[in-house]
Amino acid sequence: MRTEVGSPVQYTLDLEQGIHMNSYIGQSIRLTHTGVILCCNCGKRTKNSFGQGFCFNCFQTAPQASPCIINPELCRAHLGEGRDIEWEHTNHNVPHVVYLASTDVIKVGVTRASHLHTRWMDQGAYQTIILAETANRFEAGKIELALKAEMNDKTNWQRMLKNEIDLSIDLIEEKGRVEDLLPFDLRDFVSDNDQVNIFEYPVLSYPDKVKSLGFDKTPVVEGKLKGIKGQYLIFEDNSVINIRKHTSYEVIFEAL
Ligand SMILES: [Zn+2]
Ligand SMILES: [Zn+2]
Repeated sequence: MRTEVGSPVQYTLDLEQGIHMNSYIGQSIRLTHTGVILCCNCGKRTKNSFGQGFCFNCFQTAPQASPCIINPELCRAHLGEGRDIEWEHTNHNVPHVVYLASTDVIKVGVTRASHLHTRWMDQGAYQTIILAETANRFEAGKIELALKAEMNDKTNWQRMLKNEIDLSIDLIEEKGRVEDLLPFDLRDFVSDNDQVNIFEYPVLSYPDKVKSLGFDKTPVVEGKLKGIKGQYLIFEDNSVINIRKHTSYEVIFEAL
């Protein structure tokens, strides 16, 4: 789903025609997976999807599936190296941001500066602040790595979906604390931008338990849509589906 900044966040399901999903909240919908998965990189049919929408071959060769996507500290774009030098230059040898995001705990993350808000909304972040600004992905990765021992770098999606938020977390204060954890040579990257961003998601009510569905086992997912958060659709019976995980799955959408 494509996300746009809004109050609440706006979601469009990218099928042949874009479907504005916010419009269907409170209504019954059905998503049917046809069984066809087309690789997001080469477009060829694949039996299984690897790493969010790739066929096995592309997963092993495409720059969008490089190890430096998951581990930015492995990025070699700044040295003019990588699976695809041109792609790395345009996508990873560009300004990156290290950020703090809070839900029930604080996590650290890295993203391209131009993708900041999309990344935050895709994760269902409640509030965020920029920690550091760097010239490339590698430097941002070094900062994240230095903090990994002290903090989370993954979102707990179940807590995120249950909307477990610690409202007492003060991100400006946390940024100061985290800065002190950094080795001296990395402190110069700390950003002066102390703006705290708060995100509101289109959810009528949050589930107290969540049951995760997937198109591989459940090709037809239907029910009353109760809300959308991160990349998840939340249904009235507390079932949820991660749409991002099913990138490249051919799906038919119906309003019931
Ligand atoms: Zn492919
Ligand atoms: Zn890279």
